[in-house]
Amino acid sequence: MPHTNDYSMLFSGIDVEIPTLNGQHRRYINLDNAASTPPFRGVLNSVNEFSNYYSSVHRGNGFKSQLSTHAYEAAREAVIKFVGGDPRYHTCIFGKNTTEAINKLARRYPFSDQRGIVVTSGMEHHSNDLPWRSVADVIHVGLTADGRLDEEKFNETLETYSNKIALVAITGASNVTGFINPYHYLAEKTHAVGAKIVLDCAQLAPHRKIDMLAVNDPAHIDFVVLSAHKLYAPFGSGALIGLTETFEDGVPDLTGGGTVDIVTLDEVLWTSPPERDEAGSPNTIGAIALAAAINQLESIGMEKVAEHEAHLTSYTLDQLNKIDGIKVYGDPDPKQASERLGVIPFNMQDISHFLVSAILGYEYGVGVRNGCFCAHPYVLHLLNISQSRSQQVQNQIINGDRSNMPGFVRASFGLYNSKDDVDLLIDASQHILAGRYQGNYIQDRATGDFIPQGWSPNYEDYFHIHNFIK
Ligand code: PMP
Repeated sequence: MPHTNDYSMLFSGIDVEIPTLNGQHRRYINLDNAASTPPFRGVLNSVNEFSNYYSSVHRGNGFKSQLSTHAYEAAREAVIKFVGGDPRYHTCIFGKNTTEAINKLARRYPFSDQRGIVVTSGMEHHSNDLPWRSVADVIHVGLTADGRLDEEKFNETLETYSNKIALVAITGASNVTGFINPYHYLAEKTHAVGAKIVLDCAQLAPHRKIDMLAVNDPAHIDFVVLSAHKLYAPFGSGALIGLTETFEDGVPDLTGGGTVDIVTLDEVLWTSPPERDEAGSPNTIGAIALAAAINQLESIGMEKVAEHEAHLTSYTLDQLNKIDGIKVYGDPDPKQASERLGVIPFNMQDISHFLVSAILGYEYGVGVRNGCFCAHPYVLHLLNISQSRSQQVQNQIINGDRSNMPGFVRASFGLYNSKDDVDLLIDASQHILAGRYQGNYIQDRATGDFIPQGWSPNYEDYFHIHNFIK
């Protein structure tokens, strides 16, 4: 079976060979797309071409400044449209990633004495949990045993706290199980109690069409946040798309150049959104890259993206389910693959996730992630870890020992992955499970990671910054 699919030629770096423990080279297989994705070639081309015109935005009269400003503003509009926003009501504030976008909303949202609660869930990435804890009273809605949002509990929470709730902050899709939340339903319930909803689309945006819907639709989404590095445009940008009116008042969380209309020694007149919330010179190239990736995805069609990834997910679950000794968490049912993202958490009987991930990487050239994926409460829930066990592990970590940190191995797909990639994962997993691997792995207790003895590649043989400086 070929290792390419119709989409893989659109990406950069898919055929790169990397060293493995036996001294040979193999094609690197990235099954860690939930963390970060490689760039579309079209994104690289756009960035390259734009760099000929790159100049300061919003500040100069020169042609290049004007062109750069035009391109930056066009990127803003492309992002708003990508998530079904309406430029008449929505703005797009560029930043560096989802985490920054959520922190900004947390600091800028007009919480009141009456409405000071943020309702979130037990399945969130820390980036959609911790920022709220510093500005509001946070309620974490519970989950079902397999890790879905418990809708009954969600509704009960909304009923109980009703007009005290300012915001519902929920993930569009989980970075651990790939579960997609019924966010329009949740939005309708949220609006019924007079609150607003922010959807963490870090995972959802690269894989599904998002539609914020008309602002007067009860099921509309008020705020969307996303990261370009998970969307095939790793140039350091992210976006907060949401109601412009929210950013019309108040002092921006970061102040400085670009955020003001007039400054005297005593007074400041803040400018209008989105500039009010983009202090300093923006990451223009990052914004252009994000817009280019969006164009590429739209020209492929998000339905086609979803279809391809659902096939891969279904095939992978089917194969993993056949292996005795592997347990898949979340939803292991291949028939449900189109209802979730291609993010698959699993464990092997009696073998640490740290070790499985290490062997896959060092011996097979397969990049996966392991651990808790910045979602500790969720992973502890899925693993059904008791309070006392969790306390024990916490104490070990405080003492500098992460070797017993609970977790999973996570395989997550991007558009360029093929069945061939999955076959290698399955084949490797069978070998690992049978104890057939070659390295002598030593665990570093401080990090939990396993490193094979004798592993010492020279990274500069593969990439050296100076090689590109003429
Ligand atoms: N939310 C979710 C669901 C995520 O998966 C991630 C990244 N793993 C984030 C938020 C944070 O994204 P970033 O690191 O790009 O800020």
